[in-house]
Amino acid sequence: MPEINILSTNLINKIAAGEVVERPASVVKELLENSLDAGSSSISLEIEDGGKKLIRISDDGSGMDQADLALAIHPHATSKLSCEEDLYHIMTMGFRGEALASIASISQMEIISRTRDNHEGYRLEVNGGEMGETVPVAASPGTTITIRNLFFNTPARRKFLRTTNTEMSHITEDMGRIALAHCDIQFTLKHNARTIFDFPAGQSLRDRLRLLFSAELANDLLSIERNDRGVHIHGLIAPPAQSKNAAKWQYIFLNGRAIRDKFISHAMKEAYRGLIEPSRYPVAFLFIDIDPGQVDVNVHPTKMEVRFAESNLIHSQVLAAMRDKLLSTDLTRVVRSDEIGPDHQTDNSNNNQLDDPTQKRREDIRAAMADFFKNRPPQAPSSASPQTSSYNAAAGLSQHHLTSQQSDKLSKGIDPLIDSSNSNLSEQPADSTIESSIEHHNDLPINYNTIEEIPSNPSSCNGPCSFVQVHNSYIVQQSNDGLVIVDQHALHERILYEKLNRQLAQGKLASQRLLLPEIIEVTPAQMAAAENNEMILNELGITAEPFGPRSLAIQSFPVLLEKLDMRTFVLDLLDLLTERAGHVSREEMTHVIIDMMACKAAIKAGDPLSSDEIRELMAKRQDVERISNCPHGRPTTVRLTLRELEKLFKRT
Ligand code: ADP
Ligand code: MG
Repeated sequence: MPEINILSTNLINKIAAGEVVERPASVVKELLENSLDAGSSSISLEIEDGGKKLIRISDDGSGMDQADLALAIHPHATSKLSCEEDLYHIMTMGFRGEALASIASISQMEIISRTRDNHEGYRLEVNGGEMGETVPVAASPGTTITIRNLFFNTPARRKFLRTTNTEMSHITEDMGRIALAHCDIQFTLKHNARTIFDFPAGQSLRDRLRLLFSAELANDLLSIERNDRGVHIHGLIAPPAQSKNAAKWQYIFLNGRAIRDKFISHAMKEAYRGLIEPSRYPVAFLFIDIDPGQVDVNVHPTKMEVRFAESNLIHSQVLAAMRDKLLSTDLTRVVRSDEIGPDHQTDNSNNNQLDDPTQKRREDIRAAMADFFKNRPPQAPSSASPQTSSYNAAAGLSQHHLTSQQSDKLSKGIDPLIDSSNSNLSEQPADSTIESSIEHHNDLPINYNTIEEIPSNPSSCNGPCSFVQVHNSYIVQQSNDGLVIVDQHALHERILYEKLNRQLAQGKLASQRLLLPEIIEVTPAQMAAAENNEMILNELGITAEPFGPRSLAIQSFPVLLEKLDMRTFVLDLLDLLTERAGHVSREEMTHVIIDMMACKAAIKAGDPLSSDEIRELMAKRQDVERISNCPHGRPTTVRLTLRELEKLFKRT
């Protein structure tokens, strides 16, 4: 047996750091929480290289005096608990006294802090856990902590750091979450000297969401409030049409702390039951306040999970708060003002229409696009290969479709596509807006112009085939030995899946270049996903290029998905890429996406089909006959033979 050793404090701290500090964003979260606990009203964060090189946080909170500063970086040193009783009524973000000690043991840290009562501050440097002296320095009240070279002395951990983009998207996500819970506090975030967030103090939650995500999302949110049986719930929830592909759009704050909780997520999903597809997730920003004695926050090292004394009560209150709102609101989709132009705004009873800053932003984007196109000399059409960079692609676009007159109109805010006075455009045939390389897909079931009489298939039906659509979901067809029942969604999904796979095997998906790029507002995480997955997106026929710090310009989009809402699809796709990043290989990822594409583009259960559409769908069935299941493994077709029918009717 080897000897038993008592570990050194430094080693203990490093081990603790393994629990608390997974990546730069974890450091940011701990430091932000300390600044909040110090009662700050303004917190700024500077990051270099996704936090791998530098993280600096400055606050105007209580500060620390010389003695406290020397204590702060010791393990289990905290000003937030003094006796065991305190542990059961925690109102602060921290209480374990672990964060500074852990972070200091795996980085080069400098703390400068000054209390309001002192005329000067003190500085302390700690290098990989080795603490220096506290020395007096000039400083303004509050605390500034600088962390350099995180994981410099733990190379195994350093290896796990991802790209700057990915680390940064975690930081913005975590900081965004904290900023949402503290709208009274000013937050700024800079990355490599570029401002990412600048949230003024005293904003409303909706305004902060508008800056953090998009005006489109923020404007549509419904506010909820309920105060019953000791549970106060308030926040904003999205109408069902804004549901997402991922659960990460659910923000839950308990007594000001961001948490994850299975019960609450379940209650949210229940509230939307029947209003959204089962595979989708509602978007919600939910604040729950309860007596701190009713919840144990000491069950998880990063305090993301908590334990409720009465989880059923929380579940029922969340469900009621959300469900009441959803049932009492007219959820008919309101057409967005930007879909019908600025002169035709519809009345959205939930809140105001696009506000001035958003309108201005749109104008700025238009002006920038027009400038951009003007400055690109025309190129020969053949030079715009699918692989060209965004700028070449955009240049190709300008030369194909926009004359300088059109660009001028663009800069004046007139859309050349809908401006009827534009004679140039009306001279062009309709499909000149689409690159000639597009493969037209005449073989989709819902292709109203190309349907021909489909000869009955002798192997499955003698004489004229008869179909009937049942409940707008199933198609029943006579076959020569009985009948088949087809699930219209499953079958169409399978057909599309096969087709997408075939195209992919030949290189990339057929895509069409848009006349005008679609500008989509994205979160930093979505931006990182677009940048990190450029190759995959390209293969899938999607060109999404950064267009300003928080916007993507979609330049081309797969032909097979042309009926889908591009914005929703791209945003869902980026969320999917973020969620799966690092967990699956590139190849697997591509297939997950193909799966999602097929599912979204397929006709749905409940879609009424004309008899021609049914014929076309059923004709395609023969092509995929060998595969009788949809890509998710559900059957597409069920057969009933005459013999079985006869047995059912007790004729045999
Ligand atoms: P905890 O937050 O759990 O108490 P930490 O290791 O994060 O433990 O911090 C240790 C102590 O350092 C805190 O309890 C607090 O007294 C002090 N401290 C840390 N950051 C700040 C800050 N920004 N302003 C004032 N005091 C701070
Ligand atoms: Mg702390």
